[in-house]
Amino acid sequence: MENKIQLIQSEKGKQLVLLNFNKYRHVRTRKNGMRKWLCTVKTCYASIVTDAHKTSIVNIIGEHTHESNSEVKTERQILRENCKRQADDGISTRPIKIIRKELMNSVSCNFEMKDIISVWKAMYDKRRQSYPLFPTSLDDAIRQLQNMKEDNCCMLLEENFVHVSTEKNLVCITNKENFAVFDELFRAICRLYISIRT
Ligand SMILES: [Zn+2]
Repeated sequence: MENKIQLIQSEKGKQLVLLNFNKYRHVRTRKNGMRKWLCTVKTCYASIVTDAHKTSIVNIIGEHTHESNSEVKTERQILRENCKRQADDGISTRPIKIIRKELMNSVSCNFEMKDIISVWKAMYDKRRQSYPLFPTSLDDAIRQLQNMKEDNCCMLLEENFVHVSTEKNLVCITNKENFAVFDELFRAICRLYISIRT
């Protein structure tokens, strides 16, 4: 078997090493920088040692007590986790665009339509975790928007576009440029009003 090392993401977002279709989780870094990784199957104690940069295998210790994952299953997991990570990083990118890009980068042709639909659903579920629950009242909605604002979730082109007033239960979605246009419009109406009256 070829000892080609690949770094992938676990379902919980942790980095794993993939080697010969077996997955390994990081357990410790030695004083010389070498890293030890243990098989992710709980009953298995097979482990590997990689260099500090996680690019090559230094040692393989023990035998696996189970069958290795299939190539198809491994490829599906890589596609799913890559897409989920990108869905979370770029919240405004359409899922289909992310999936298409990942499929073009993938060397595999083993994906079926049901795999793509499953990945698509996983991306939506991942994104839903970043959003608050559906508000049940106006007060609730304002409280949620306030929290999102504090977490810098309401930013576009480095500018906050959601303005919340708790005193008047008022939410305004706009930016500085719009404010300037309204201001100019208001001044023009005032000038017109004064010219008509005098
Ligand atoms: Zn194992």
